Formats: sequence, C-alpha cells, structure tokens
Amino acid sequence: MPALPDRLADRLITDQDVARTYGVDASPGSVAPAEFTVVRARDRGDVVEVLTYAAAHRVPVVAQGARTATTGSAVALEGGIVLNTEAINHVEIDPVERIAVVGPGVVNGDLKSQLTAYDLAYPPDPASSGSCTIGGNIATNAGGLCCVKYGVTADYVRGLEVVLAGGEVMRTGRRTAKGVTGYDLTGLFVGSEGTLGVVTEAVLRLIPAPDPALTVLAVFDTLEATMAGVAALRGQRHTPSLLELLDGPSITAIQAFGDYGFPPGAGGVLLVQSDRIDHAHEDVVAYAEALAAAGATDVAVADDPAEADLLLQGRRALNPALEARGPRMIEDVCVPVARLGDLVRAVHQIAERRGLESTCSGHAGDGNLHPCFFFDDTDPAQVDAARGAFGDVVEAAWALGGTLTGEHGVGVLKAPWLEGELGAAEVARQRALKAFFDPLGIMNPGRVFP
Ligand SMILES: Cc1cc2nc3c(=O)[nH]c(=O)nc-3n(C[C@H](O)[C@H](O)[C@H](O)COP(=O)(O)OP(=O)(O)OC[C@H]3O[C@@H](n4cnc5c(N)ncnc54)[C@H](O)[C@@H]3O)c2cc1C
Repeated sequence: MPALPDRLADRLITDQDVARTYGVDASPGSVAPAEFTVVRARDRGDVVEVLTYAAAHRVPVVAQGARTATTGSAVALEGGIVLNTEAINHVEIDPVERIAVVGPGVVNGDLKSQLTAYDLAYPPDPASSGSCTIGGNIATNAGGLCCVKYGVTADYVRGLEVVLAGGEVMRTGRRTAKGVTGYDLTGLFVGSEGTLGVVTEAVLRLIPAPDPALTVLAVFDTLEATMAGVAALRGQRHTPSLLELLDGPSITAIQAFGDYGFPPGAGGVLLVQSDRIDHAHEDVVAYAEALAAAGATDVAVADDPAEADLLLQGRRALNPALEARGPRMIEDVCVPVARLGDLVRAVHQIAERRGLESTCSGHAGDGNLHPCFFFDDTDPAQVDAARGAFGDVVEAAWALGGTLTGEHGVGVLKAPWLEGELGAAEVARQRALKAFFDPLGIMNPGRVFP
C-alpha cells in the first residue's frame, strides 16, 4: 500500500501485537487478516484524509468503534484500513433543546453518566453499553434492554455528520425537534454498518431522566406459563421499561456460573421493570399481580432501587455465564411477541437435531431473542453443526413472521440470507443506493451485501 499522508503518521498503530487486536470484533471465530493498517482518527480532518487516500488508491476501509459487533461487521479486511473512531469523543449537551452533539467514539455508558448531572437520559442501552460506542450504535441501529418502552437508536438520532467515500463531508437531518425537509438520509445511514460513510458527529435526542427503575422477578414452571406471563403484561396500560426472558437452559447456565437464587428446574423467568415517574411502585405491584394470575410460582417485587438492581443481577450474569461455557454461536432474531414461545421451542428442536446444546433468552418485550448454540471449536463436525443451526434459526424466525436480525445487524455472518428476506428486487435497489454513496465499493465491502 502506498504511504499514508504525513498528517496520519502519529495516528497509526505500528505495534503489530496491538494492531492485531483491532483486526477482530466480538463475532464467533473472527480472524484478523494478514495485512491491514490501523488508523485511530482524532477528528473529522483525519477521517477526510483517510477516505480521500482510500479512494485515490482503491483501498477498502472498515470504520470501527469498540469492536463489540457480533456479526463480523467490524473485522479488518485484507490489505485494507481499519479507521477507528473511538478517539473522536467530544460531547456537548444542550439541556434546553434536550440534545447532545457527540463524536462517534463516545462510549454509550459514559454519555449516560454525563447526562445524570442534567437530569436527562439517552435511553438506548445495549448490554455492551460499558464499552460500545455511539458510532457503532448508530451504524448498527443498536437496541438493548429498554427498547420495549423507549425504542431503538434510530428513534434518538436527529442528525449526522458523515464523511463519504472520497472525503466529502455531508450533514444530514437537523438539531430541531421537528423537520421534514427532503428525504430522511439520517435514517438511511442509521443501521448501514459502515457501508455508506463514516459518522464523525451525531445530534442525539434526549429525554427527561425517568425515575430509578423498580423490578419484578417472576419464576414459572413451564415455558407455556412464562409466555402466558408475557401476554398478561401486554394487557397492562403502562408499558414496562424492561421485559426480559430467561429460558430454562439459560437459568441452569446462570446457576452453574454462580448462585443467583433461581430454583432448579424452573421453566422460565421474566424480569420486568417500571421507571414511570412517581408511579414505578404502583406499576410493579400491578405487574406482579398479573404475573401471579398468569401462573408464576414465585414473584419477587423490589421496593427500592438497590433491591431492584439485585433482582436484575441474574440477568446481568447471563452473558458472562454463557461465555464461561465456551465457544458459542450467538443468534439475534425478532418475531411477533405472540410467537416467542414457538421460537424458543424451535431453537431447542434445532439444537437437538444438530446434536448441540442451546439457550434462548433476551428481550421478550420486543420479540427479540438471542439463541445460543454451544460447540466444540476443535471439532469440525460441531463447527458445521453450529453454522447449520445458525441458518436454521433464521428460517425458523421467517416461518414465524419474523426477521433475521433484531438489533445486531447483518454484517458478514448473515449476508447470505439478505436476499431471502428482502427479495432480489429490493436488494438491487439497496445495492444501487450503496453505489450512489460509495461508487468504488470501498466502504466495508462484503458486509451486509454478500
Ligand atoms: C456482550 C455483548 C452484548 C451486546 N448486547 C447488545 C444489545 O443488547 N443490543 C444491541 O443492539 N447490540 C448488542 N451487542 C452488539 C454490539 O455491542 C452493538 O452492535 C454495538 O452497537 C457495536 O458498537 P461498537 O462501538 O462496538 O462498534 P463496532 O463493533 O466497532 O462496529 C460495529 C459496526 O459499526 C460500524 N461503525 C463503527 N463506528 C462507525 C462510524 N464512526 N461510522 C460508521 N460506521 C461505524 C462498523 O463498521 C461496524 O459495521 C452486544 C455485543 C456484546 C459483545
């Protein structure tokens, strides 16, 4: 690759061991290519330089945040540039307009912490919020635990500054609460997984901080009863701020990791929260009554935020508990809420057929679950079985009226199924849009589109 412009000399990561850590993301089995260059941009000017250079020399560019993507969308490309934006992390908070203007490198959890001083909140809360960046969240339209009440990242992005392939700077959207001037290019870039341009600034909508959430934890004997609990909550007048499901195998995995108080043999657990200002207590009492009436065998209600947090610890232990079990294929599909039970059953049938172990938990309030298949990565037959199960789950979600990804995105891993969901004509239209913004095809090629 020809030498990069001088301005970028001290933005390069030259230590090969460190550079290799920028070559992979959190997707299972992701492998860094042999040759790639890592640039840690410090401002928009650096991004312009990289994209001008990349267009001139036809070099592929992977925009990158904290590398927590689970789909391979942030993995380096052979002979390409990893353009990491973590160091572009300015934050300006405007409490009157209730907006934050931020750099893409701001860590989601850090923004939340800064907003507490203003009694404001930025709701999108991926489970990775302690490390993932706003740029990555925007590029994947990230969701999380609070979406059931507050929606996803797209609902909070008012405007963007983006550097396009070739180095042109484009601004989309607005700072104001309303605005319908022209097409919604902000919406087009949200969820585009770095395939259209590099986000260098975002205008984010904020909301008044809700009350600290109170929690209900309900244990059920069977999956069917757990689903009756979900249905009962859908009948409530006030939407919970969190509604999470742990299935039986997930509960077993969590208890094997540490004692979080779940009874042995439970068929399912629902965790439900309310953060409604001045009404959280009344809401959780109503949720608890509805869950007991739906068949919960044990219902615990937290009376104060500290206790509420304790009840949530078992849910928080899910990711580390699953990680501790060894290599796993993490799925992310979304189905109508009424079909959640069918999805959980389908996942376990797929695992049995493929000779794998599985768990199936996640964001029940959105119909968005994260099935996991565990496999021995030293056994090629098990690796094949896990890959096969991954595809089977996509087909199962489609059969239930769902979609192949609820929040993690398409990346590399799900690109082969894109056309199966969208159809050839729609994929052709989307490819034409990509070609308009990225005529040389250098922005994260091979991701989203196979
Ligand atoms: C333990 C764990 C829990 C998770 N929980 C959730 C969850 O609850 N909800 C959820 O939605 N996701 C979740 N994720 C997935 C992941 O955290 C999100 O997709 C997150 O938004 C990625 O942010 P990142 O900064 O790590 O981006 P990266 O992984 O670095 O990149 C992700 C994508 O964004 C693009 N990108 C990054 N920065 C820019 C930029 N400045 N401009 C343009 N494109 C850019 C990359 O090219 C890539 O396509 C989880 C992941 C893990 C490991």
